[in-house]
Amino acid sequence: MAIKIYNTLTQRLEEFEPREPGHVRMYVCGPTVYDYFHIGNARPFIFYDVVRRYLEYRGYRVSFVQNITDVDDKIIHRAAAEGISPQEVAEKYTQAYREDLEKLGVLPADYQPKATEWIPQMVEFVQTLIDKGYAYVLENGDVYFRVRKFEGYGKLSGKTLEELEAGARVEVDERKEDPMDFALWKSAKPGEPKWPAPWGEGRPGWHLECSVMSMGLLGETLDIHGGGQDLIFPHHENEIAQSEAATGKPFVRYWMHNGLLKFQGEKMSKSLGNFEYARDVVAKYGREAVRYFYLSKHYRTPINFTHEAMADARRAVERVYNLLEEIDQELSRRNAHAQEIEPEALTERGREFLELLERTRQEFLEQMDEDFNTAAALGVLFELVKEANLFRREVADEDLPLLRKTFELIRELGSPLGLFQETPWKRAEGELQEQLIELLLDVRKELRKKREFELADAIRARLAELGIELKDKGEETVWGYRA
Ligand SMILES: [Zn+2]
Repeated sequence: MAIKIYNTLTQRLEEFEPREPGHVRMYVCGPTVYDYFHIGNARPFIFYDVVRRYLEYRGYRVSFVQNITDVDDKIIHRAAAEGISPQEVAEKYTQAYREDLEKLGVLPADYQPKATEWIPQMVEFVQTLIDKGYAYVLENGDVYFRVRKFEGYGKLSGKTLEELEAGARVEVDERKEDPMDFALWKSAKPGEPKWPAPWGEGRPGWHLECSVMSMGLLGETLDIHGGGQDLIFPHHENEIAQSEAATGKPFVRYWMHNGLLKFQGEKMSKSLGNFEYARDVVAKYGREAVRYFYLSKHYRTPINFTHEAMADARRAVERVYNLLEEIDQELSRRNAHAQEIEPEALTERGREFLELLERTRQEFLEQMDEDFNTAAALGVLFELVKEANLFRREVADEDLPLLRKTFELIRELGSPLGLFQETPWKRAEGELQEQLIELLLDVRKELRKKREFELADAIRARLAELGIELKDKGEETVWGYRA
């Protein structure tokens, strides 16, 4: 059974075959590090994390690259606003980006190249394009790509150059040969970061970075290139044009694009206050609620952020954890040991349930294989949760191994989604226990104030029996577990 991917380039669902059998080379456009990323940016980070996890789950080796754009107009503007250098801005928000990915449970990419560490390779790449006649240098040292010379321009959008031009807001620039030509290199302005190049000092254009770093780390033809639908044009069209012009080879085999987020029904906009940072949403609802929110919709459809939807997502995740907790406690209450499932030892109800478990795994994989349909796969998993909630209530001793298997299956199928991997109930028990001890200490302190020493000592003695030792230091009492 093969994985199928909807390829933006062909606008069809295609069987996935990496160029090298068993090894996937994958690139996803990363952030420009000038601010904390917002909840809309979290969608591609989470979705392509799931693509990567699922490919690994299905046995592929994955080499995953996600770049960091650490030189850009936005960074330069932000530096001026914060009164620090562009480099300090980039460092600050690169750090924040990594922290926030961790908060979202996104595994770090294998390579996270920074644009500023790849400048010599970019200069060389631009020189190749100049030599081949695909790029030209202006008097001031700007370098532009000659879009009309590249025949396939527009193939990712499925549009001609004229159609793209009609729809684009292209600034008129008399110095360019064609309004659609895009910058490969920007000549240095006073006070801005700059690097040497044969045609003059300056810095690379954004499109250039992705081509140079992805091909530099993964080779001239990538298997998967991902990003948001807003990047198809011009960013990814430009990546294709310059890469294929330079190498003469196909740049990417499968182009994937995720749909965008609306914020309470409108376009997300900082100036209108339609806006939340991802870190704030995680702090409020929890990481798995954010992941579930996105994964419960098909990745290619738009999705609408509302606080009600986030609260629903949190409840859905809690429903699964409640089941895991019930199973965990039932198994320890009944002292059930791990054992192989032997169908003939089960009750009839148990055998039916075993079939459901097997069907769940199979259908889950089928849905995920079909262009990473996480929404349908979660639907399959929640059907199991519903049935397991009924099953566990009156489970016969013979069928207890099925409860353990349910627990393990939910964990296993949750792992490529980055869901249901924690044991929150165990943590909660620990926290509750400490809170109850603190409560008893407060009561005991009041008793001592009222000189009711007999009762206060009884509390100390009972706690000691439970392995908890109290030490009175004047008015205050500290406690600890007996070693
Ligand atoms: Zn890119």
